[in-house]
Amino acid sequence: MLVQTIHFPKSCLHCEEPPCVPVCPTGASYKRAEDGIVLVDYDKCIGCSYCSWACPYGARELDAERKVMTKCTLCVDRIYDELLPPQDRKPAYVKACPTGARLFGDIKDANSEVSKAIRERGGYQLMPEWETQPANHYLPRAVVSVSGRDVGMDVETGHLQMPADDADAPGPVMET
Ligand code: SF4
Ligand code: SF4
Repeated sequence: MLVQTIHFPKSCLHCEEPPCVPVCPTGASYKRAEDGIVLVDYDKCIGCSYCSWACPYGARELDAERKVMTKCTLCVDRIYDELLPPQDRKPAYVKACPTGARLFGDIKDANSEVSKAIRERGGYQLMPEWETQPANHYLPRAVVSVSGRDVGMDVETGHLQMPADDADAPGPVMET
């Protein structure tokens, strides 16, 4: 069996139906109506961790020192900062990626860069069976290399596919 290490970034996915919100007893966990970003109001948070248990993606982390729940904010201050040039109004992880592998935009705009990428490259949501409808999508790699051999990726399922002449070779059992 071939084994390959893959790096899989997983932050808050800013779900359309976030189970972390209704379980919060204080209203600290909330989803903004204007842009769908899910945030924590630290002034209301009592650190009970209910939201963390409700999140199926493990996207929340309790700050034990401050006793508040933390998670990705989508750099909400940065993306609306009018002092920044428009091209810099993106989350820090998007700006920092040296290869431009991470995209940022409005998935409700069918003509946005992210909507086109999802449509044309088979973007998918994590664990759709939870019906959380994450805003964040993942784009499968068209071709990856496993032990020096190019392996295709089924864009429908995200499963790796061995080339036909390697059909008898031990294959990776890996999904994205
Ligand atoms: S990924 Fe988790 S923390 Fe983020 S909105 Fe969805 S359920 Fe909530
Ligand atoms: S940890 Fe904070 S945000 Fe999470 S459920 Fe408790 S009060 Fe709400």
